[in-house]
Amino acid sequence: MDFSEFGDWAIALVNTRADDDARDPLLTLHGLKSFPYELTGGGRAQTSDLIPLRIVREQLAKVFEAQTSNEAASHLNQVLRNCEFQPHLVYSVDQGLHLQVASDRAPTWRWIAAACGLGMVSLLMDHGAQRLGVCASPGCRRVFLDRSRAGNRQFCSVACGNRVHASAFRERRRTLNHQVVSPR
Ligand SMILES: [Zn+2]
Repeated sequence: MDFSEFGDWAIALVNTRADDDARDPLLTLHGLKSFPYELTGGGRAQTSDLIPLRIVREQLAKVFEAQTSNEAASHLNQVLRNCEFQPHLVYSVDQGLHLQVASDRAPTWRWIAAACGLGMVSLLMDHGAQRLGVCASPGCRRVFLDRSRAGNRQFCSVACGNRVHASAFRERRRTLNHQVVSPR
């Protein structure tokens, strides 16, 4: 079975913290209810899910920030301990057979923690900690899976890379101008 969709959800969950507060979906019940149906166990989200989910989000972010696989695994295990996995197969006309990883009675935050925790296991075991990164652009906290051949991705997006390169270019030009006009 391919768990890459769970991995994509883990990345998407961590990246919700990069939005400004007005758009952080984990600050309001309305925001949480905008998450995909299959991730939340079907619309039973409550305000009490928000704080545990923000903690899970920070724990998952630490997996991306870790310098070694050992450190990443240690942070991920904190998430996994809270998941209360109860994997079971469900059939629906829309989706066919699909895997649900938490009990139908579990609170929404545990559903999301279980799906994203399993997704992180897949990302870490398939790609290694060195392929999980945080954007190097100042002020950006978005995380990514580095799928580049060279394995040297630094930025979450082309936009962030361009912003940093443009800023470095302006800095070099300012330094050069200063050197040209400065008396020796
Ligand atoms: Zn970025």
